[in-house]
Amino acid sequence: MDAIISHDVDHITVWEHRRDLILPKHIIRNCIEFGLKYITLDEVAGRLRDIMRNKWNNLEALMQFDKEKGIPATFFFGMQNGVGLSYALQDAKPWMEKATEEGFPIGVHGMAFERLEEMRKEFDAFAALTGLGGFGIRMHYLRRNAETLINLEKAGYRFDSSVQQLASPYRVSDLWEFPLHIMDGRILCRNGRWQDQTLEQAKDSTKALLEEAVKRGIGYFTILLHDRYFSDSFRTWKQWYVWTTEFLRDNGFKFISFNDAIEELEDVHAAH
Ligand SMILES: [Zn+2]
Repeated sequence: MDAIISHDVDHITVWEHRRDLILPKHIIRNCIEFGLKYITLDEVAGRLRDIMRNKWNNLEALMQFDKEKGIPATFFFGMQNGVGLSYALQDAKPWMEKATEEGFPIGVHGMAFERLEEMRKEFDAFAALTGLGGFGIRMHYLRRNAETLINLEKAGYRFDSSVQQLASPYRVSDLWEFPLHIMDGRILCRNGRWQDQTLEQAKDSTKALLEEAVKRGIGYFTILLHDRYFSDSFRTWKQWYVWTTEFLRDNGFKFISFNDAIEELEDVHAAH
């Protein structure tokens, strides 16, 4: 089993949220997590500092970490705003360029999931901005309906990774679906909208999912970390990611990108 790591970019700055409710929700969440002793005073202080510094991404640090560890992670960027994703395309663009320069694949963090016409617009915006072809998508909040996947295929995407299911990659016409096996939030916030797991609990649930995936013969194991959480202000999250990638490596898993996995899958298909 190989591992595919990806990162959804939901935030770039704090100020981009001046017209939505993300900031008050964040403050409430911090109070609850501190009250329940899942985070330390240092983390609370760090999160306040992040607000003062107007910095809600950790793209630079995460790219550096992934590069050092030889992880060909995919970074997904939003092409339009909605549900708490509020950055402008011009603010994302330098980071998309930086990721590409550093050798990371990039894709679309999808917003439209119901109307093909809107989905095409996001595809076209990304293609125009990057000049790339053969890229994939993950839907923001994993939103989809019965037609989403086939419409993503029609829009031109090569792959999607939005379906939460412990299953192997499969084809929807010409699109490859890589089911999402581990999302950071589902591991750290099991019962609600705030952290309610310790690092040890997070490690245990990660190991259990990996074991189950091996048992089911899944070829490519997919893991999502939002770059937002690769920070000492979210210590458990960051430690969980570092531990997970080390655990995978120590147990002989290889890191691979979505596109390289597709090449392997299509070779296998062609050989049969
Ligand atoms: Zn998102």
